[in-house]
Amino acid sequence: MFLLALLFAWRTSRSILRPIDRLNQRIAELRRTGNLKLQPQDRGEGDVPHEIHALHDNFNGLIRRLSEVLAQLEQLSLTDPLTQVGNRRCFDQVLDAEVSRHRREGASMALLLLDLDHFKAYNDCYGHPAGDRCLIALADLLKDLFRRSGDRICRIGGEEFAVLLPRTGDREAECLASRIVAATAELNLEHRDNPPLGRVSVSVGVSSGRPSESLTGSWLLQAADQALYRCKRELGRNTVACAPAHDCYQPSAFASYQLAPAPDANENPSDPNG
Ligand code: GH3
Ligand code: MG
Ligand code: MG
Repeated sequence: MFLLALLFAWRTSRSILRPIDRLNQRIAELRRTGNLKLQPQDRGEGDVPHEIHALHDNFNGLIRRLSEVLAQLEQLSLTDPLTQVGNRRCFDQVLDAEVSRHRREGASMALLLLDLDHFKAYNDCYGHPAGDRCLIALADLLKDLFRRSGDRICRIGGEEFAVLLPRTGDREAECLASRIVAATAELNLEHRDNPPLGRVSVSVGVSSGRPSESLTGSWLLQAADQALYRCKRELGRNTVACAPAHDCYQPSAFASYQLAPAPDANENPSDPNG
């Protein structure tokens, strides 16, 4: 009788208590480390009752659901809700990662910084909802233009976007920037307070180079920003300006690029509220 009771206790321990104990340890590990790995089923240790299997399945189902929700949350935290492109947080992450990758590979990358011209006046004239639609239209245009895998579009400020272009040299970057300027004018969105074009336009600052110890993400950003500033203050809006190569970087030595004359503003641009 005593032996039978001992055998019963031993089997209970193997088939019920040990699996529960392992699951418990796994839960404690999850709480400690946040590691969302699945728990393997307990097998071959006597008769594990189906309730224990069900507990395992439920635990693993919970882990899967948690992983999905976390992935969705991460996606949300990196996305601009208005335009559905990356946000500033996403930009900072991708810029760092791309700079490190290009540095390892010894390859050149480019950054385009775009800013809508006289956008405050646009909001004042047509209203904030029309301004929002304009931002969405520009983001959609960028999504159409930049389809290469690895190209990254982010809205990094109110009416400012950044496009990160992997494995891209200065000539190609300049050419792509001028395409954005032309395509934006071709959207043909009326903007009465944006002379002389009379329709929505953007200015683009370009920087590029092979990342190194001194050519960092913040250098790319600062150089593109200064080029953009030059569009706004010196070249006139609706233009592209390129930062010079990194080694001869001098704010005064900017190379510039002026687009062909803008299309005729009288070609019936579309009224944003009409
Ligand atoms: P510039 O050509 O020099 O860039 O002039 P600007 O008027 O575009 O620049 P400024 O920085 O003076 O104004 C930016 C405007 O962008 C101000 C704000 O009304 C508008 N803006 C920023 N975020 C949003 C947004 O989410 N929606 C809308 N509709 N407008 C926005
Ligand atoms: Mg701005
Ligand atoms: Mg602006």
